[in-house]
Amino acid sequence: MAGVLLDGVAELKPLTILGVTGSIGKQTLDVARALRTEVAGIAAYRGSNQLLAIARELPAARVVVVAPSESEREQYLAALGSRVGFGQDELLALAAVPERIVINGVVGAAGLAPTVAGLRAGNRVALANKESLVAGGPVVVAAAASGEGEIIPVDSEHSALWQCLVGEQAAAVRRLILTASGGPFRGRTKDELRAVSVQDALAHPTWNMGPRITIDSATLMNKAFEVIEAHYLYAIPYDRIDVVVHPQSVVHSLVEFVDGTLKAELGDPDMRVPIQYAITYPERHQGPLDTFDLVGTTLDFEAPDRDVFPCLELGYWAGRTGRSAPAVLNAADEVAVAAFLAERIPFAAIADVVASTLNRVPVVDLSSVADVLAVDGEARKVAAEYVEVTERAG
Ligand code: MG
Repeated sequence: MAGVLLDGVAELKPLTILGVTGSIGKQTLDVARALRTEVAGIAAYRGSNQLLAIARELPAARVVVVAPSESEREQYLAALGSRVGFGQDELLALAAVPERIVINGVVGAAGLAPTVAGLRAGNRVALANKESLVAGGPVVVAAAASGEGEIIPVDSEHSALWQCLVGEQAAAVRRLILTASGGPFRGRTKDELRAVSVQDALAHPTWNMGPRITIDSATLMNKAFEVIEAHYLYAIPYDRIDVVVHPQSVVHSLVEFVDGTLKAELGDPDMRVPIQYAITYPERHQGPLDTFDLVGTTLDFEAPDRDVFPCLELGYWAGRTGRSAPAVLNAADEVAVAAFLAERIPFAAIADVVASTLNRVPVVDLSSVADVLAVDGEARKVAAEYVEVTERAG
């Protein structure tokens, strides 16, 4: 089997895993173990016992804790000595160590600066942090274009599109088609969604993910973000990016070409597969999945209900508006989802808070990480006000 490497993968660059205690980070550790490749750096926001346990498993790795408590700082210094660093600057320095593959699994807008730092250092950034492209699209695209750095998407849909586009020319693409599982509330009416609980929304039918992205899947905001990411990753206009609901999550996305051919990437839903591909691309290595059983597999596709799930339309609106509008979309959604998870606002109010915030925050140009963070901060403030108004009216 030419091109398929079954042995050790010593030729891979060492990994730097940002957000190592999160869902993507832990699955990346699994992939690294399976590939027998070196993990040279790890970072997490807080100094949990879990992070310390991972650090002990990797005695040569540099460890960064972005925002430790005072006791965590002492505990880490005592346990790890000079191989631990603290704070945002240390995080960016870790992302900028050259000749590494940086897996960015940081959750939230905090993931943007390390993406840019990794790209500027000429690294491959295996990108799982949505905010990098959703909030900071123009800045990240410029950082990738400025040197040797490259973005390989980790998200299953964008990995699928990447795989369908390998060897193809941009002019041959008619449209990108992102699949959506539809989340736990597929087929519900607007009325039925008013009273859903946090528990209901956290029960995702096919993918096992962190809490914010699970809620974003339930509102379809996650798909809105993915449309925006696809726009920046593949430089395709929004009217040539479609979304189709596919409840089995077996087709991870498709590309339609100008001759009418459709290419799709299929497989069992398991994030370790696109994580591994982002690391080994352009090669493939043995992965975690068994042979796929096509017999008896049914694939269904339906249109998303844009009336019941208004977040999808908000995403297209913000994407087409461009500039800072997607950053506002993202920040407002993060605030609204946190308020829903804290049971301060109902599920249906998430879209209302986001729409109100998009209407109020002015759209500006983005040319630096600082620009993005300024917009992010302003949008959060405005969204928090709308959360309070909603809560008081509640
Ligand atoms: Mg996805």
